[in-house]
Amino acid sequence: MAEIQDRALLVRRIPYGDTSLICHFITEHHGRIALMARGARRPKSAFRASLEPLYELQIGWRPGRTGMGTLTDVNRGAALLQPAQMLGGQELIAIASRLFQEGDSHGYEELHSALQLLAVSSQQPLLVAVWKLLEQTGWLGDMSCCWHCGTEENGSMFWKQGHLLCGACGQGMEISAGLRKTVAALMHGERVMLSEANAGRWREMIRLILQQHGIKATDSFKV
Ligand SMILES: [Zn+2]
Repeated sequence: MAEIQDRALLVRRIPYGDTSLICHFITEHHGRIALMARGARRPKSAFRASLEPLYELQIGWRPGRTGMGTLTDVNRGAALLQPAQMLGGQELIAIASRLFQEGDSHGYEELHSALQLLAVSSQQPLLVAVWKLLEQTGWLGDMSCCWHCGTEENGSMFWKQGHLLCGACGQGMEISAGLRKTVAALMHGERVMLSEANAGRWREMIRLILQQHGIKATDSFKV
């Protein structure tokens, strides 16, 4: 079968046999795929230095006749993050890896833009980036309205089961108007102050929404 080429982000590496790896990629045009990288753990493998997460990759593979395809080529492009941002990047990749499952046709644009936001955000970059990922997954609504009844709300609202609700629709963790405005501003790249208390509350909102969708929290989002 003819070789296929695509842009890709590496989201998972699983050792296979003595020298190989099964690599999960989120690709631009083919969604999430798993490929066998034969001999990738051998010291002299050409794949060894290239198969890194948090880089833009150009990969080539031969589809399997029945099962998994075989990786034939990897070119590592630019690093997406600065060294100091790598830990946050790994958490973002781990969350994306749980959001976009094998066979999903999308994910590349979503993860790529969230990584870009992680790279440039001055405040709480991981919260901003994960929020972006959730927004693009379609799990978030307008921060000025109740997600249940649609009423615009100027005062406090409530976070319940991963939804922002007005007082009439439900009670839960209180979300002040200030926090809602700050989150919206940070998502637009504006320079606003986020207090420690509000950052903690935002982190808790993310933890709860991940939990609601059955996604295991990463270190920054554990209680
Ligand atoms: Zn409502």
